[in-house]
Amino acid sequence: MIRDLVRPELQKLVPYVSHQIPYRIKLDANESPFELPESIRKKLADYFLKGPGLNIYPDNESVELRKTIAKHWNVEPDEVVVGTGSNQLIQMIITVFVGTGEKVVYPWPTFSMYKINTLIAGGAPVAVPLDKERDFLFDTDEFIAAVKKEKAKVVFLCNPNNPTGYLISLEDIERIAKECNNSIIVVDEAYAEFCPQSAIPLVKKYENLVVLRTFSKAYLLAGARCGYSVSGPEIANEINKIRPTYNISSLTQLIAQMVFEEQNEMQKMIQYLIDRRGELEAALKKAKDVYIYPSCANYILIKVPRAEEISKELEKRGILIRSFPNDPMLCDCIRITVGTKEQNDIFLEEFFDIINNF
Ligand SMILES: *Cc1c(COP(=O)(O)O)cnc(C)c1O
Repeated sequence: MIRDLVRPELQKLVPYVSHQIPYRIKLDANESPFELPESIRKKLADYFLKGPGLNIYPDNESVELRKTIAKHWNVEPDEVVVGTGSNQLIQMIITVFVGTGEKVVYPWPTFSMYKINTLIAGGAPVAVPLDKERDFLFDTDEFIAAVKKEKAKVVFLCNPNNPTGYLISLEDIERIAKECNNSIIVVDEAYAEFCPQSAIPLVKKYENLVVLRTFSKAYLLAGARCGYSVSGPEIANEINKIRPTYNISSLTQLIAQMVFEEQNEMQKMIQYLIDRRGELEAALKKAKDVYIYPSCANYILIKVPRAEEISKELEKRGILIRSFPNDPMLCDCIRITVGTKEQNDIFLEEFFDIINNF
């Protein structure tokens, strides 16, 4: 009975489940391995002791946080919108622009939320396949042709791409923004701190361009749920019309602000992880039958025989990595988040033990 009342396009969806199992090392969700710096934890302790004022609603406009972010990127505060994770911005952008049956175009494989949120909105997702034989290379001409043919309302480009690690050049992003001027072009830069390259300076030039950033990866705050968009003021204003009231808690606004102001600390951690990524790649190169896709992010995708068995066996040993058993393009791949040196060494030891004993 309930099912019959549900919108037809939602009946086949299943809830997203993230596995909460005991683990020794968590390298499955591209989170940072680092805790908040002690200086920030001390400030938070003071804030709680003083009385955090959580009985009062938060600032609905996240004014201080948006000012800080805008200053960093040399844009205006009214060009920044803060969301409950960049996931909420993905959902809000689709809600604003995509009506029933309208097309949302993205390369595949990529982050699954573009497709899921399009389905939730009643839109039509269109995946343009990447070339697996050529490191999941992004073919700009082919992609622009697909966007035009489908008359896409919204285009998603995850850059660097999750889970392949591939980075589209800024020249190509600019070409897409210019040539697909009847579509909203969303560049999801969840991992851009690890490349480093950003399309944010281009939003001044292209009013149809939106760049998404998150505090969940390089900025240590996956648990606090905070992300933001940078775009021209018009897109920002449209998103604000449908943004849920008080979407960012006062606690999250405060913590995100504190973390963002510690740019030097953050840069050190980012550089540390970039160095570890190089080491992890070099170590994995020694495994036979393993192909490593070049990565510009804080994870590495590899192609390996018996990927799902390896993933299960690692899990038994308390090491979580990401596998893709239900995706025909990725079912022979696993994705490993770059951790600390100690974590990576334990992963490598167990990984080699498993593949050498098959
Ligand atoms: C992790 C990730 C995000 C971040 O989502 P939040 O809601 O900000 O935690 C966004 N896009 C991609 C591609 C990601 O992998």
